[in-house]
Amino acid sequence: MPERERHHSVMPGPCLLCGGPTALGLRLPGARLAASDLARDLDIAVCAACGFAFQAGADTPEYGEFIRHAYEAWDDKPLFDFPRRSQDNVAAAEIIARHSGRQARVLEIGSNRGDILALVKERMPEASILGVDPATHKNLPVPTLRAFFDPALFSSRFDTVILKQVLEHFADPAPMLAGARAVLEDGGLLYLEVPNLTRILEGRTDAFILEHTAYYTLSTLRAALSGFEIIEAQEAGSLRVAARKLPGKTAPARFVPPADGPRQAKEALEGLARLGRGRERGKELLVAHAAAGGRVLFFGAYNCFRALYRELSPLLAGCPCVVADDAMQGDREPVFGLPRVAGPEKGDLVLLCSNNAEVLDRMWERTAGQTGQTEQAGGGFAVIRPWSALLRADGTTSDLGADT
Ligand SMILES: [Zn+2]
Repeated sequence: MPERERHHSVMPGPCLLCGGPTALGLRLPGARLAASDLARDLDIAVCAACGFAFQAGADTPEYGEFIRHAYEAWDDKPLFDFPRRSQDNVAAAEIIARHSGRQARVLEIGSNRGDILALVKERMPEASILGVDPATHKNLPVPTLRAFFDPALFSSRFDTVILKQVLEHFADPAPMLAGARAVLEDGGLLYLEVPNLTRILEGRTDAFILEHTAYYTLSTLRAALSGFEIIEAQEAGSLRVAARKLPGKTAPARFVPPADGPRQAKEALEGLARLGRGRERGKELLVAHAAAGGRVLFFGAYNCFRALYRELSPLLAGCPCVVADDAMQGDREPVFGLPRVAGPEKGDLVLLCSNNAEVLDRMWERTAGQTGQTEQAGGGFAVIRPWSALLRADGTTSDLGADT
């Protein structure tokens, strides 16, 4: 294939939600996947009318083909105990249990290992649980249909449908939301969770990745959820929404841009520009640290780390790299084989690896608290919170995205 065909247009098309005009907010040439070594240019467009942010070109067959290969390369190496009791997972299970009947029939679309379903079952022992996921994990611990979701797979309806960290993988949410409606009882519960664009931009987190095509604020998500009534919404690192299916067979009405769309669009473009500057500055710091013979500690060993490490490792050539992760087992991180350490040492540059702003907040508090101590007490290292802040070993901080 000629080189130029691998790069898609820099001019983003119309908004995938409302058809409004869009502008390019962020360009990441040669962006990396978490699960494989494939790379692709990543362009984030913002709709001027509704504020929706999306990956330009992600509605094309070429992107579909690219990402299908990526998901097929997904590894099934167990990294966490089952079920994983992260704060995020527990918060999701509690909302689902709060709004579901005791004996609910629960379907999770994109259930992966089934961690959430297992946590729901603990809270609702009389519920029946089923996952649907094309993942190739062996010995799945919850009942799972190994397939891409299709409403035609199911002959009866469910009381609760879970879409956790799924909708952001679809350029256009309408077919998936219509599918979820089709398998839900009238009045049934839809639990929906997506990354929170507002928090991503506030924290300038590294959440713009090839695997994600759509970025919602509560306002754009609410507008996309026609045919449902939102009964609870939590704005954390992720948006967590519980919604009831309104009766009626008709397709949801056309998307209507929220009134604050233009203001959201302006904030998104400004936030993306800051993030882009911070990303370049942070990478320069990492390269300089490696060139000076320093060690880089990746704090967090999951997807965010994997994509960042694939991108950064050619730039950090020869520099010792290690990982630290409380939830990880074993002496070595399983994908690249980096040694696992308990924590940073004097002289390290620590890169916090999460694309969830709240998880980053907790990591930052912990490492920043440590480096403020004397070197004897375990301080003396620097920390990059990608891509907003640098904490130096002397305790001073600077803004990576400052417009200088
Ligand atoms: Zn729009």
